[in-house]
Amino acid sequence: MCDHDGLTVGETKTTYISAGSNLGDRKEHLTIAIDKLSKTPDIEVVNVSSLYETEPWGMKDQPDFLNCVIKIKTTSAPERLLIVLKAIEKSIGRKESNERWGQREIDLDIIIYGCEVIDSPELTIPHPRLAERCFVLEPLSDLCPDLVVPGLDLSVKHILKGCSDSRSVKLNNKDWLF
Ligand code: ADP
Ligand code: MG
Repeated sequence: MCDHDGLTVGETKTTYISAGSNLGDRKEHLTIAIDKLSKTPDIEVVNVSSLYETEPWGMKDQPDFLNCVIKIKTTSAPERLLIVLKAIEKSIGRKESNERWGQREIDLDIIIYGCEVIDSPELTIPHPRLAERCFVLEPLSDLCPDLVVPGLDLSVKHILKGCSDSRSVKLNNKDWLF
């Protein structure tokens, strides 16, 4: 069963975006990304998680990240949403040459898009490494602990409880946008 506040059918999709930064003014980059999302036609920013200071995942030899998850409502198709996210990443200064899982000014990933399960060359939704990443599960759990993740058929809090990711995820700021 899929529970997205009753908004998963029809045109409007409830979607969760993971945002992370570990280069330059990290908090400023996240704030700008949220502001740009909220100013994008047909995207409504509904809620934002607490901010977390997290140990890097993948390549170890890089600065710690600040991470959060953003809940939005949108009528955009996921492919179009990915284009919007990539354009925002670029406008904030992310270089195409940034190594995979390496340091970056901003990383914006689609974690969940309505009830949909998508597996195309450009897009995998829910995000394929969701269940392995506490830096995504912890802020996601702030927003929707009881949400059943499409395809995994387990709640966010259940997946978080069973997650073996040992990298540190520390609460940095609860009311950071206000
Ligand atoms: P990661 O987000 O895993 O750290 P990147 O940000 O470098 O890695 O993403 C590389 C590519 O992953 C993107 O260009 C995009 O096409 C693809 N991708 C697949 N699924 C998703 C998703 N759910 N959200 C964002 N990007 C995705
Ligand atoms: Mg990404």
